[in-house]
Amino acid sequence: MTDFETLGLSKPLLRAVEAEGYTTPTPVQEQSIPPLLAGRDVLGVAQTGTGKTAAFALPVLQIMSRNRPQGKRHIRALVLSPTRELAAQIDERFSAYSEHLDIRHKVIFGGVNQNPQVRALQKGLDVLVATPGRLLDLINQGHIDITNVEFFVLDEADRMLDMGFIRDIKKVLKLLPKKRQNLLFSATMPSSIADLAGSFLNNAVKVDITPKEVTVDRIDQKIMFLRKADKRRLLVKIIKQERVECGIVFTRTKHGANRLVKQLDQSGIAAAAIHGNKSQGARTKALAGFKNGSIPILVATDIASRGIDVDGVTHVFNYDLPNEPESYVHRIGRTARAGRTGIAYGFCDDSESGYLVGIQQLIGKEIPVDSSHEFHFIGAIPKPGQKAGKVKDPNAPKKKQRNHNRSNQGGGRNNRQNSGNGGGQNNRNQSRNQGRNQGRSNRNGGNRNQSRNHRSGDN
Ligand code: AMP
Repeated sequence: MTDFETLGLSKPLLRAVEAEGYTTPTPVQEQSIPPLLAGRDVLGVAQTGTGKTAAFALPVLQIMSRNRPQGKRHIRALVLSPTRELAAQIDERFSAYSEHLDIRHKVIFGGVNQNPQVRALQKGLDVLVATPGRLLDLINQGHIDITNVEFFVLDEADRMLDMGFIRDIKKVLKLLPKKRQNLLFSATMPSSIADLAGSFLNNAVKVDITPKEVTVDRIDQKIMFLRKADKRRLLVKIIKQERVECGIVFTRTKHGANRLVKQLDQSGIAAAAIHGNKSQGARTKALAGFKNGSIPILVATDIASRGIDVDGVTHVFNYDLPNEPESYVHRIGRTARAGRTGIAYGFCDDSESGYLVGIQQLIGKEIPVDSSHEFHFIGAIPKPGQKAGKVKDPNAPKKKQRNHNRSNQGGGRNNRQNSGNGGGQNNRNQSRNQGRNQGRSNRNGGNRNQSRNHRSGDN
């Protein structure tokens, strides 16, 4: 079995890795670290939870500390991340891994006062982790110079495109020096990402750790068919029966997340919501409470949850099934991290049976059904031959054309929250059978306004 030493890591990094309790490199680390140390570009198909942060941070730190330039510190490594949560977590990993090195790093993101960020930048940094909006903002104000960057990491590239960051990424790429080492990580590899990768990676080594291999197999997945009105009672029952101390519940809308937190509270279950409408302070507080165990249940929407890096999540509840099959894989990947196992419950009501069909097509198997609960409802089971996607309600009144640009933060019928994650109006009636790549490219083109809304809300 390979260990970190065999991968060629230096003593200070081996000490840091040991202090983190890592004994064996994960597959993405095993495959990425040697080529990165050899100076190659890497294209990694891996989602958060696979150990990909260490896969890029360790070699970047090692090369940077091997040859330290004279003079004032300047940004040598730039890591771009789509959300502030993920950016903060990456930065926190850099802290852990650079414990025994003379490396200064900092994270910057929008939604908070820029002054402390500017002060840190003025002192000089080696590694900058940033969300695209704030990065460009501070570059335009003259506070950041990325012209000497030696390592460029684009993390969660598929999510970046979903959130409408492609133009920002292209602007950043133009400002970077030509000679540099590039790393691109993405949970999925639709053609839009392959094109982007082709535009700036040089003869990259491809490392493919698909979610199916890494996490899904270690997760005990269950589907429960029930009526929408019974979901809350079933959730409360399971949380109490299984004494869930670290679980994430996914809802489709921000409004739904808030409402559920209140309802759980009424049932004596401490929970906190995390979504794009929450202030940075509220999100940090909710995550901290969840991490230290004082809040056992986190209720999250897809965008905000992406990259939540909490070890020991035992349960994931798909309280609302996602209309985007890939989100299901991301959601359940919040559990069974770094070698552990976990349980993922999916609650499927009669309006969601088509989403279940799409999910099962994506993961390539049927999720075992658990009907041993009092709310079991056969009307929610997909019909033989049912198509993937939204279930058409034959009784639904014909709706007037709506203005798609209007924001609808209240959630409810329009599922705006999910649209930023890749689903949304344009995809509604589109058959999932067309395949995930096609779905993604459609979304990227079609949902720009919605993506922009998300970007301002979430970054
Ligand atoms: P990431 O995919 O980078 O978000 O990492 C997911 C989690 O796995 C983090 O909590 C890391 O601390 C942890 N981790 C990363 N590498 C290893 C390893 N080799 N062994 C055990 N845990 C790890």
